[in-house]
Amino acid sequence: MKAYFNNIYQSLSTIMVGMSITIKQMFRKSVTIQYPEQRLQLPERERNRLFVNMEDCIGCDQCAKACPVSCIDIDTVKVVPGDIVGKTGTTSQGKKKALHVTSFTIDFAKCCFCQLCVFPCPTECIYMTDVFEYSTYARKDLKYQFSDLTPEQGEQKKKMLADFNAEQDKKKAQAAEEAAKKAAETKAAENKGETKTESDNTKES
Ligand code: SF4
Ligand code: SF4
Repeated sequence: MKAYFNNIYQSLSTIMVGMSITIKQMFRKSVTIQYPEQRLQLPERERNRLFVNMEDCIGCDQCAKACPVSCIDIDTVKVVPGDIVGKTGTTSQGKKKALHVTSFTIDFAKCCFCQLCVFPCPTECIYMTDVFEYSTYARKDLKYQFSDLTPEQGEQKKKMLADFNAEQDKKKAQAAEEAAKKAAETKAAENKGETKTESDNTKES
């Protein structure tokens, strides 16, 4: 009989303890938010998706070299005389651009958001943004292209450089040919002079 009442007491006291905790929580301030309608303020210096301001990128490759997972790929082409990079040929700090950045990709499927690429950039044009919602269905869609040149424009810049190099090589070959010709002419003239002197000497003796 005593055990019977003891069990009833245990059940009621357990329910009371549980209910008291529930009632206490009902009056506490909510710690959850209705995301995405409600958003928490991001902390200062948060690390999210990177952005590259191509207006200021000089294609120096420092960021790619610093990346521990090699997720930055940069292709550049030298600027030929008479051509300029972008609209002005300089960065916003007035630094001259000597390279066309024909491709600048960051694979965010590999990026570990270490931020090591940001610090070596001499023009501070690669930086973390506050964008963290960019999930995709396919991994390939996480490879972002930042170059402001289309693939066709990139090919055109490569062709311009190839044509310029070919022209330079041709000029060098022509100059070498002319120099060789001149040298041969000079030698022939010298030989002629020596022969004449020898025949004059023979006549005199
Ligand atoms: S944040 Fe780190 S992993 Fe991501 S691109 Fe920069 S260096 Fe590479
Ligand atoms: S370090 Fe900066 S300037 Fe150099 S390639 Fe990277 S983003 Fe461009």
